Amino acid sequence: MKIAGFDIRCASVPMPPHRTASGVVAVSPLVLLSVRTDAGITGHSITFTYTPAALKPTAELMKNIEPLAAGQPLAPAAVSDALHARFKMLGAQGLVGMALAGIDMALWDAFARAQGLPLVQLLGGQPRPVRAYGGIGYDGVEGSARAAEDWARRGLLGIKAKIGYPTLAEDIAVIRAMRAAAGPHMQLMVDYNQSLSPTEAGQRLQALDAEGLAWIEEPVAAHDFPAFARLAAQTRTPLQAGENWWVRWTSAMRWTPACAAT
Ligand SMILES: [Mg+2]
Repeated sequence: MKIAGFDIRCASVPMPPHRTASGVVAVSPLVLLSVRTDAGITGHSITFTYTPAALKPTAELMKNIEPLAAGQPLAPAAVSDALHARFKMLGAQGLVGMALAGIDMALWDAFARAQGLPLVQLLGGQPRPVRAYGGIGYDGVEGSARAAEDWARRGLLGIKAKIGYPTLAEDIAVIRAMRAAAGPHMQLMVDYNQSLSPTEAGQRLQALDAEGLAWIEEPVAAHDFPAFARLAAQTRTPLQAGENWWVRWTSAMRWTPACAAT
């Protein structure tokens, strides 16, 4: 089976302003990629480009990469190796990395569809569905509690809230207010959006262990694997990461902490 070509669309989906510890998100800029094969199977991916400024450039990069993939066998790992080799001098990070990741996801989706298996099973894993949950922005104690109550009223059994307030006490106040508003059976998750230093994360996460959270998402920079490993060893609550990995990190591209002293 060979890759026939790409169909690419840009979508700017308006959303209510969603505050995070890293800024306000008011629109969801998405590149929708479909990779066609000569066997009639199509794989899809959605790439969230964070800012509308990156939407068209990411889509155009994918379009410009299409001739490098078209006509190749549908072998996602081999195509990924070839594309990364091709971009070695420019560097497969930033928007290039994002475009390559979107293509990679669509190729794997097509490959799984061709095998008739969910991708997680094809990769040797087991499906572990996550409970549907409502999102809560960086909305303070009262705003987060109101949103939690609203999701509970709408029948959801899980919520995930942005935290990363100036102090740990504020993080805990928001979590407890949501718990009080949504009831004891609501599954609570929190997301730091990479806003803590490893030292600060170590202190806050140990305190959050007592709050009964289902997971704590991205407490530190997404690619600081040593910090994640240390935090995971110190914390009972599961840590969540992966949403912002769009670069394949090899031994030649080791993460270097920005704040080596911390
Ligand atoms: Mg997140």
